[in-house]
Amino acid sequence: MKSQNTQYDAIVIGSGIGGLSVASILAKSGKSVLVLERHYMIGGYTHAFQRKGFSWDVGLHYVGDVHIPGTMINKVFRYITNEQLQWKALDAHYDRAVFGNEEFAFIQGREPLKKSLKAYFPDPESHASIDAYFQLLEKASRAGMSFFIGKILPPFLSSTIGHFLRKNVLRYSDKTTLETLRSITNNEKLIGILTAQYGDYGLPPNTSSFFMHAMLANHYMEGAGYPIGGASNLAKTIVPVIEEHGGTVRINAEVKEVIIKNNTAIGVELINGEKIYATNIISDAGIYNSFSKLLPTKTQKEHQLKDKLKNLEPSAAHVGLYLGLKGSTKELHLPACNYWIFPAEYNHELNQKRYKNFDSELPVTYLSFPSAKDPEWQKNHPEKSLAEAVIIIPYAWFTEWEKTSWKKRGADYEQLKQRLADQMLEVIYRVKPEIKGKIEYMEVSTPLTTKQFSNHQHGEIYGAAFTPKRFRQPFLTPRTPVKNFYLTGQDASATGITGSTMGGVLCATVILKKNVFSLIERSIK
Ligand SMILES: Cc1cc2nc3c(=O)[nH]c(=O)nc-3n(C[C@H](O)[C@H](O)[C@H](O)COP(=O)(O)OP(=O)(O)OC[C@H]3O[C@@H](n4cnc5c(N)ncnc54)[C@H](O)[C@@H]3O)c2cc1C
Repeated sequence: MKSQNTQYDAIVIGSGIGGLSVASILAKSGKSVLVLERHYMIGGYTHAFQRKGFSWDVGLHYVGDVHIPGTMINKVFRYITNEQLQWKALDAHYDRAVFGNEEFAFIQGREPLKKSLKAYFPDPESHASIDAYFQLLEKASRAGMSFFIGKILPPFLSSTIGHFLRKNVLRYSDKTTLETLRSITNNEKLIGILTAQYGDYGLPPNTSSFFMHAMLANHYMEGAGYPIGGASNLAKTIVPVIEEHGGTVRINAEVKEVIIKNNTAIGVELINGEKIYATNIISDAGIYNSFSKLLPTKTQKEHQLKDKLKNLEPSAAHVGLYLGLKGSTKELHLPACNYWIFPAEYNHELNQKRYKNFDSELPVTYLSFPSAKDPEWQKNHPEKSLAEAVIIIPYAWFTEWEKTSWKKRGADYEQLKQRLADQMLEVIYRVKPEIKGKIEYMEVSTPLTTKQFSNHQHGEIYGAAFTPKRFRQPFLTPRTPVKNFYLTGQDASATGITGSTMGGVLCATVILKKNVFSLIERSIK
């Protein structure tokens, strides 16, 4: 480890996948790198926690394309982990949408999915709508390239090439998912199924940008993979690469403020007063923390950063239910797929509107079984299985406990957690009755837990929400108005493991001033 007086080439604030990916690329390019993580565990939303012989992932259930050799994200992970991380494909029917008693299974592959949708909606009118939908997805997917290139363009090209790239994206991002889908069909059931994965970006069709929906639908078109050994294996395989190349990763190291001199970032001050200096400071802490907490007030005012943030809103918060089950995955018939469980109503807006308080019917419940996705789990835990469920919930419902601290939030909060667990279990048993009576351990997290461990101030899962307005904000890029201060992770790019990892690749591209994508292409056979 370098001494305190050493000047690093780069300090990365936060060890989420956006932070670790940029750190690995910079370290492999010969830069001296220090990663500072405030949590006692590395990995941000990719960390896992253990209780009584069980282990649960926090924010990774499946990742599109990564399991397919030759895709860009597959190569990026091979590069940043030095080939140490392996992925296992989920079942061919990787996502199952359950509306009341009806189920539609998303199958991997564009043509198979189109075919199964057409079998589910046999009328010619729906067939024409399904064809139109797939055409739209393909067109939007081409604009995806413009979206990412636009983020690394030097400012002097912003009004020329940048303008052209932005236009390509805005064509799809300015409309909501619902507006776009209504232009090709009025079939509520079809719209409900096509958008059944909306929990992956956190907004129902009437408020999400169609561009986000299209990126997500394309992302999972060829199915999905899961990291062998679990989500924590991302950090476990990347950190050694950073260290082998002379870098350091520190936990319990919360950055209080970025040190700025003449509008240039030159170092950071930790909450214990320690000051560390570097040529480049990179924040993986999200746009809200970066612009309104980490930069000094004077810098915030100089660049009107708080005004910029007013154009955004935090994405969804969630409640997580973590179950440790007695019995093997085989005995319990647990599949390697995800369930999206809805009320019998196909209209997601209506389901959301009806979700008025803790007693209302849940508009969407996500359920999966990590032990069925990970081929290593059963070898190491023969008689145990895992289940995880997630619901989307407003952060505002938890503000009355904001001032309390973790594990000491009071009896009423504990009762509420039990109530939420019971409500979620009722939904889960509808789909997987085999689990009943098999729960050995159970834990519930709320948006306050998320805030406690991730530092995202509204417990937001996906950074800034993916509304049409988000795509009009030019500041969500690795470059910031402050010299040598950069952003990585989901707010610099797009959400999810892939979006956040790509945030790291884009950030490294800007700092190294070289095409990191072709560097990776050349390094991976
Ligand atoms: C419940 C849930 C389920 C999800 N499921 C999936 C999924 O199945 N597939 C998928 O692709 N995506 C999923 N996601 C989204 C995905 O996890 C995120 O998009 C991604 O991990 C974000 O990475 P990041 O690097 O941008 O930020 P984060 O992972 O949030 O990392 C930010 C890091 O910065 C640290 N930090 C903050 N402030 C400071 C400070 N002042 N000093 C030092 N460190 C600081 C935090 O502690 C944290 O470690 C899910 C997320 C959640 C919460």
